[in-house]
Amino acid sequence: MPGFELFGDLERKEVNDVLDNGVLMRYGFDGMRNGHWKAKALETELQSTFQTSHVQLVSSGTAAVSVALASAGIGAGDEVIMPTFTFVASFEAIMMLGAIPVLVDIDETLTLDPKAVEAAITSKTKAVMIVQMCGSMGDLDALQAVCSKNNLLLVEDACQAIGGTYKGKPLGSIGDLGCFSFDFVKTITCGEGGAVITNNETYYVNADHYSDHGHDHIGSDRGAETHPFLGYNFRISELHAAVGLAQVKRLPEFIAIQKKHYTILRNALADIPEVSFRKVPEGGEESYAFLNFFLPDLETARKVTTAFKEHGIDACWNYFDNNWHYVRKWHHLKDAKSLYPLTSEIKAALSKLKTTEFSQSDAVIGRNISCLIKMSWTEEEVNERASKMVAAIKSVI
Ligand SMILES: *Cc1c(COP(=O)(O)O)cnc(C)c1O
Repeated sequence: MPGFELFGDLERKEVNDVLDNGVLMRYGFDGMRNGHWKAKALETELQSTFQTSHVQLVSSGTAAVSVALASAGIGAGDEVIMPTFTFVASFEAIMMLGAIPVLVDIDETLTLDPKAVEAAITSKTKAVMIVQMCGSMGDLDALQAVCSKNNLLLVEDACQAIGGTYKGKPLGSIGDLGCFSFDFVKTITCGEGGAVITNNETYYVNADHYSDHGHDHIGSDRGAETHPFLGYNFRISELHAAVGLAQVKRLPEFIAIQKKHYTILRNALADIPEVSFRKVPEGGEESYAFLNFFLPDLETARKVTTAFKEHGIDACWNYFDNNWHYVRKWHHLKDAKSLYPLTSEIKAALSKLKTTEFSQSDAVIGRNISCLIKMSWTEEEVNERASKMVAAIKSVI
């Protein structure tokens, strides 16, 4: 997946444009910048990549989720439904606004189970945030139906799924708002960066102002701009945007390489009767950033993970015991270990997590193995990897 694997002259050229005039800031300094507007150019490029009306670049994927929720007016005391399997950024971004993360079970799509979502809705629920983990998606039609029936916002965290599609539409462009990350290990990277996408003009204008101290961005004199509402600084720099501009142009090439490598590995594993694959909803096409498969149970998945290491296979994980991606080990969250006081509402919600059973999620994550697809492998390396993976699995089942 990581864009840094294929990094070179194109990225260097874009960055040098910025270094040549020294304007590292995305707003203002019109006279000095020699016509270079890298952040604006990347936003325009992403509009066509994601087939969306509006793109707002921000400083990270975590910022993108927070800015997206804020732009739709979500804040103190509002509940946001999110999956048990994600990256810690999901609850961080929700809690930054004083909103309450409500964790619900995943199904074999490895993200939100629409039935679990429906069961978790209360009078305080404002949004459902699906996290399209490991390059694929949930049942977006079913989730959209739940959201429209209950008048909730559907937010897509597509940070790991750039390039994937659902019924022909890019992931991230289907809900009311979509979020992307361009951190160092994502499919395309800026070093650090993120984006909020939406077809809603109001959310876009809000995101644009909110991510830059509430500046209205009217006219070309920054000092004369007013602040219609409070904001913070979640800006991307021109240097980071320049890297992303080179990378995004290579996205189709990146996805094609991922698909080729994924297919070789998947075909090799498909012959093993004990192996089954992650469920991809009808009409969905993965970004092929990861290959996810299931084994019969947790014990076998753990043994296979160990056997992979012994056979020299790196970058494959069983997330059941993982600190970053699965609810089981999020002790700092459950214990509400905050540097500053949290509201009693949030503390109560977090404390409830200590006793909540997520047996459906445990069953899915326990059996799953997730393998990163690297772009830098040679064809020979992928083929060798495929045979080693098969040998490792066969050694334990
Ligand atoms: C990487 C990631 C984020 C956060 O992105 P950063 O740019 O690192 O802040 C959020 N959600 C998911 C699913 C991610 O993988």
